Amino acid sequence: MDVLFQGGVIVTVEGIYEADLLTRGEKIAAIGAGLPAGDARVVDARGLLLLPGAIDAHTHLECVCSGIPTSDDYASGTRAAACGGTTTVIDYLLQEPGELLPATLLKRVPMASAEAAVDFAFHIGVSDLGTPALLGSVADAVAAGVSSFKAYMVYDFGLDDGQLYRLLQETARVGALTTVHAENRGMLDARVNACLARGDTGPWWHYWSRDEAVAAEANRRAIALAKAAQAPLYLVHLTDRDGAAAVTAARDEGLPVFAETCPQYLNFTSDVYREARGQDYVCSPAIKGAASQQALWAALRRGDIQTVATDHCPFTAAQKDYGIRRPDGRAGDFTAIPNGCDGIETMYPFMLTQANLGRITFPRVAAVCAANPARLFGLDDRKGALRPGLDADVVLFDPRATGVVRARDLHGNLDHTIWENTALSGRVTATWLRGQPVFQDGAFTGRRGGGRFLPCKPVAFDGPALA
Ligand SMILES: [Zn+2]
Ligand SMILES: [Zn+2]
Repeated sequence: MDVLFQGGVIVTVEGIYEADLLTRGEKIAAIGAGLPAGDARVVDARGLLLLPGAIDAHTHLECVCSGIPTSDDYASGTRAAACGGTTTVIDYLLQEPGELLPATLLKRVPMASAEAAVDFAFHIGVSDLGTPALLGSVADAVAAGVSSFKAYMVYDFGLDDGQLYRLLQETARVGALTTVHAENRGMLDARVNACLARGDTGPWWHYWSRDEAVAAEANRRAIALAKAAQAPLYLVHLTDRDGAAAVTAARDEGLPVFAETCPQYLNFTSDVYREARGQDYVCSPAIKGAASQQALWAALRRGDIQTVATDHCPFTAAQKDYGIRRPDGRAGDFTAIPNGCDGIETMYPFMLTQANLGRITFPRVAAVCAANPARLFGLDDRKGALRPGLDADVVLFDPRATGVVRARDLHGNLDHTIWENTALSGRVTATWLRGQPVFQDGAFTGRRGGGRFLPCKPVAFDGPALA
């Protein structure tokens, strides 16, 4: 099917201009003024912005975290993504101890292929590189289509500094990117123990135990290790002012250091942990104070944060209440609250709202939500921009519409949202995936299994630029 989007305004990283956009089959065929319709189906895009489908480079779908399943599987999570203008998700897998990394990937591809309604790729969280065979399997996973590997500096399955250093060296050698969850494990454990010894059990203490200082030290250490290893580095879910300053300094030095932040860190502050349902906002790293939120915005605007992704890891209200009472009936505390928030359907509407309000430009949103994740994770030969030859992943956005987020209007499985009552300026009116509509007139029009596995290309970065 050929489709001609007529009379809209095209948003690219370089700028905004009026043009028609023609798709042919699964690809964008042409962009220009007054394109002839021919046999194409014509979509009236007058008054609308045309944007690239968003790439959500950080999701946890169909994930069991500390024994607790997330509420969205690949089907419901990607259905919600489609309805929010996201046409690609890059989901996090976690290596089992002793498992060769291609095996971690290959057992999940059939599951996601059967369910996903948008295209998908994977990162692998690494837990065990203790033998030459396991370390060597990084290169095999790159050949199988994964070019990013996550190291956790916290948690039982996390890596110590020596293991992280080896991973950084190996990923640089084989054309991959190490992504890091940076918090200081020793400080975190000490603070959690202090809270529990005092009887401080509410959600606020989740923040207090992993505050700005806990994040900042680990962000700086991860950058130092990457510099020593002469490897590129991607800090996932950056939350804190000092971390943003460290990323900026590293980039000013010419190092290939990149950072992601998430909408929840851009919209909320640690005050949410004092709210009646503070447990709903419990995610790791914790949401920080106002000074950090302002620093994240400033870094995002000037290009020192390269991506916005969701860390979508949704748990039901009943699961969040494990912080009050555990499943086995014992009293809960903040350490029993499953870590994670929703965002897969609201990310692009939130970011485009901010552009509509003038807090960031539309081209910058196209960069951080589409072009940059495509480049960083080896998908830019198919995804991330409105350009002839790339996949026809097109989002239509009405900048004059207004609305409010309601959990009951969202298309995932979750029974609540941290975004409830958030005002939206503008609205995603349609999402097209490879030339087919997957969201239109407020309804999901895609299909389960309509998404496709995207092998990620190997990647290499000489410095901080992504172009
Ligand atoms: Zn993480
Ligand atoms: Zn995550």
